[in-house]
Amino acid sequence: MTNITRNDFDQYMVPVFAPAKFIPVRGEGSRIWDQKNKEYIDFAGGIAVNALGHAHPVAVKALTEQAQKLWHVGNGYTNEPVLHLAKLLTENTFADKVFFCNSGAEANEAALKLARKVGLDSGIAGKNGIVAFKNAFHGRTLFTVSAGGQPKYSQDFAPLPNGISHVAYNDLEAAKAVINEQTCAVIVEPIQGEGGVIPADIEFLKGLRELCDEIGAVLIFDEVQTGVGRTGALYAYMNYGITPDVLTTAKALGGGFPVGAMLTTDKFAPHFSVGTHGTTYGGNPLASAVASAVFEYINTPDVLEGVKNRHQYFLNALNTLNAEYPVFEEIRGQGLLIGCALKAEYAGKAKDITTWAGEEGLLALIAGPNVVRFTPSLIIPEQDIDEGIARLKRALAKLGQ
Ligand SMILES: *Cc1c(COP(=O)(O)O)cnc(C)c1O
Repeated sequence: MTNITRNDFDQYMVPVFAPAKFIPVRGEGSRIWDQKNKEYIDFAGGIAVNALGHAHPVAVKALTEQAQKLWHVGNGYTNEPVLHLAKLLTENTFADKVFFCNSGAEANEAALKLARKVGLDSGIAGKNGIVAFKNAFHGRTLFTVSAGGQPKYSQDFAPLPNGISHVAYNDLEAAKAVINEQTCAVIVEPIQGEGGVIPADIEFLKGLRELCDEIGAVLIFDEVQTGVGRTGALYAYMNYGITPDVLTTAKALGGGFPVGAMLTTDKFAPHFSVGTHGTTYGGNPLASAVASAVFEYINTPDVLEGVKNRHQYFLNALNTLNAEYPVFEEIRGQGLLIGCALKAEYAGKAKDITTWAGEEGLLALIAGPNVVRFTPSLIIPEQDIDEGIARLKRALAKLGQ
């Protein structure tokens, strides 16, 4: 593509993002190259999306084979790839039924709407309250920014959907105080991703499960970031041994192809009927074929065990680095969702670190102003981890200057 430059972003794009100064043009495995053919190690994974790295042959094959057959038919017809994917998702999780869409926000939108409908169908007057958590992130539609616990994403768009209360994450007593007969749903991330890579305490999730059972509310786990192997389990709820009523999944599900899904049980699915909810692209054959291939590849003991091994490898490398440049207060997370919280004296510097990392040839993420986040490919080779850490070290060296 000739004559395309980063300046075109500022000229032609609605300015909701501030992308890096370089433009990636090609990727393979955990490496990408920009317009100048500069190479980068990818610890960002397209924000926990590129679970098999870039251009993985399994995903490429699924995409190109399906591309030659059938892309889209609309919901007046079903298709083979979507039914295959629905079987995979239900046979390998607690769920019995799936609703497909195109993103994490849409999956959560469907989950919250389903919960409101369950509340309505209960016949209990006013059973429409939603309990959510501070600092949570559930997407950018009006309902999901309202459920999210970061007012900066919702306050400019009032009036917001009401009936949503936010309490502190990992604070079961605070949740107890707001969950009542009028609550139709509790929505929670098993690990807050955007909110700073903060894992839930097991007692917290267990308590939420019990409270939802007591008052008949739908427990929704937002696994958009934690799902599809990210934590070393197929879904994070499996690590905790606590089963939700509804689970949302997206990001890694398509390995880079946009797809989302809401999983639920035979108990709750019938509250949606023909016409109550929908989407044009949800479950289209192209997305479903890619997602099936990615899901099948990841859902093996080898790949999932590999995520746990890489977690340890990453942590060892980061701890060694932190011994040399003590900038991180805490290194946390599960599997390949890793957050490095900066020490107080470096507060607010996470973005600078990722910018410097880019200069050194490393893609990394932030999770708020004080946390550097890594969500690489689930099959990133150890040599790429080593090389990425070496580049991170050069970026951190700039902190003191
Ligand atoms: C990314 C994310 C979303 C939103 O997904 P989109 O595909 O951007 O709509 C929702 N919940 C969590 C936990 C996420 O990490």
